[in-house]
Amino acid sequence: MLHVVSVSGGKDSTATYCRAIERGVPFRAVAADTGNEHPATYEAVNRLHEKTGGPPVEWVKANFADRIAGKRRFIERNWAAHGVPEDLVARALAVLHPTGNPFLDLCLWKGRFPSRKAQFCTFELKVQPIDRHVTRPMLATGETVISWQGVRAAESIVRRGLPPLQRLNAHEDLPGRLFVYRPLLRVASVEEVFAIARRHGVEPNPLYGWGLSRVGCFPCINCTKGELALVDRVFPEQIDRLEEWEGLVSEASKRGYAGFFALVNDPVMLAEFNMISVEAGQPAHHVSHTDFIKRFGVRRMVEWAKTDRGGRQYSLLARDIGTACNEWGLCG
Ligand code: SF4
Repeated sequence: MLHVVSVSGGKDSTATYCRAIERGVPFRAVAADTGNEHPATYEAVNRLHEKTGGPPVEWVKANFADRIAGKRRFIERNWAAHGVPEDLVARALAVLHPTGNPFLDLCLWKGRFPSRKAQFCTFELKVQPIDRHVTRPMLATGETVISWQGVRAAESIVRRGLPPLQRLNAHEDLPGRLFVYRPLLRVASVEEVFAIARRHGVEPNPLYGWGLSRVGCFPCINCTKGELALVDRVFPEQIDRLEEWEGLVSEASKRGYAGFFALVNDPVMLAEFNMISVEAGQPAHHVSHTDFIKRFGVRRMVEWAKTDRGGRQYSLLARDIGTACNEWGLCG
């Protein structure tokens, strides 16, 4: 029987790693590098074994080089033929090259950023790379694999219905059997989770001390207003980087523009955008991507995050809603 623990640098996965040490089972630990984490998270993951005496965490990373090459071929064959303006075609081909940053390359390939309704980031950046590089090779040996996940029943109604041990049937082409094991399921409080890690000399990721409720991408596309304002305060370079990414992804987009956050976060901005579309009689093609980013991009969202103006979606709810990442125990 082989054990593997998914680690994110957050409290729940860290406690899960510590529980595996306490059980005395040999295990591998794995983390998925999204390319969009805070340096403190990389540090927390990289030093976990030094503090606890457990195994070093192995990093895996998605690679989109082949899919970006395929997208280039698709654009060359189809875009102009389907009426996409030549300047957009040339711009997309100029920017569509892998950068080696998984998050950015995923968005270049898709021509957009993920959103709550199209949350392809969890699968592409975390689930799939861990599966390809770790779980599948383990199952290919014919062994039973136990995947430890740090989810707690107290976190949501959905998780209350999860069993502690669950057989997954997603790899029927391989001889091994895969089970998910949730050792924290009955751990009720966040304090207990931190206490498990402290028994092993592991202090909480500093991001919690700064006010973040979850450790994952920094920022996550589902972050709260408060968390976005926090990112700007403690790591302003990240906002600069996201703005740069918005420029690159906009160039790879058939629409000609792409923002890191969905506009539905702020009704005022959404109304402003819809007015442009109504005036244009179609999606806002006459907005240049530089204008779009200035008016609706991450920096404008940061300004909104510093106000008490309401948002329709996440600002009041985010602690209660699950992102796909925390449903998988891949942030926490
Ligand atoms: S932490 Fe957020 S942005 Fe990052 S992969 Fe998960 S859902 Fe997507």
